[in-house]
Amino acid sequence: MDSIKRSNAMTVDVEDYFHVSAFDSIISPSDWSSITPRVGDNTHRLIDLFNENNVKATFFTLGWVAKCCPDLIKRIVDEGHELASHGSNHRRHTSMSEAEIVKDIKDSKDILEQISGKPVLGYRAPSFSINESNEYVFDILVDLGFVYSSSTYPIEHDLYGVPNWPRFANKRKEGILEIPIPTILKNGKNKGIGGGGYFRLFPYWLSKKRIEAYLSQTKQPYNFYFHPWEIDPGQPRVAKAPLKSKLRHYVNLHAMEKKLKYLMADYQWDTMFKVYEREIKECSK
Ligand SMILES: [Zn+2]
Repeated sequence: MDSIKRSNAMTVDVEDYFHVSAFDSIISPSDWSSITPRVGDNTHRLIDLFNENNVKATFFTLGWVAKCCPDLIKRIVDEGHELASHGSNHRRHTSMSEAEIVKDIKDSKDILEQISGKPVLGYRAPSFSINESNEYVFDILVDLGFVYSSSTYPIEHDLYGVPNWPRFANKRKEGILEIPIPTILKNGKNKGIGGGGYFRLFPYWLSKKRIEAYLSQTKQPYNFYFHPWEIDPGQPRVAKAPLKSKLRHYVNLHAMEKKLKYLMADYQWDTMFKVYEREIKECSK
C-alpha cells in the first residue's frame, strides 16, 4: 500500500475531566456519581465536528460513559464511527490485580456491545498502562475477542511508557495487533507526538512540522489521540490538583477546536480499524 495515500487514525479517549489519571489523587471514583458529567455534550460536539469535516474516528470509550450516556454510544455507531473500549473505570492496569483487569475490560466490552449492538474489537488501556509488568493483558484481550490494541507508548515519561518497546504496529506473540502511540526520533530518543497535551501546548505550525517529520521519517500512518474535555474551556477547575497536572490539563483549552479543524483539513483521517485493517487481518490468520 502506498504510505503517502494511506489515511491516518483519528482517535478519541472518551472520558470526562474528572476521570483523568492526573486527578486521581484528588477525585476518587466514589465521587464521580455526584459530579455533573460533561463528556456527553462534549463528545456530541466532537461528532458534529468530525461529520462536518468528513472525518471518521475511533472512540475508545469508558464503560462508565456508556452507562451515563447510552444515546452517545448509539450515535457513534449510527453515524459510521468506530466504537472501541477504554476499560470500565479508568483504572491503570498497574494498580489492579489480573482478576480485576479481566473484569474491568470485560464489563466495558459487554456494555458497549449491548448498547451499540456491534462487536467491539479495539482496546486502549487507561494511561497506556500496559508495560513489562503486565504483558499478560494481551492474552486477556485475545481471550475477550479483541483484535487490536493501542495501549503502549514507547517513550520515557513520569506516568507511563516503555521506551524500548516497538514504535510501530506490531503483532504480539499473543496474536493481537498492538498499535503504539507515534513517536519521532530525536537525539537518539523517542519523543511522543501522538496526543492532545503537546498539541494544545504548541502552536499548530509546530505540531504540523512534527507530524510531517514523523510521516517522512517513518512512512507509517500517524495516529492522533485526544479527549472530549480538551475542547471544553468551560469545565470546572480542579483547584487542589498538583500544579504540574493543572498545567498539563488546562493549557490552551480554548484553542483546541481551531487547531483540530486545521488538523482535520491538512490530513486524511479514518478509524483505527480501517487504517490498520490489513495488518489486523494478517494477525488473526
Ligand atoms: Zn484515558
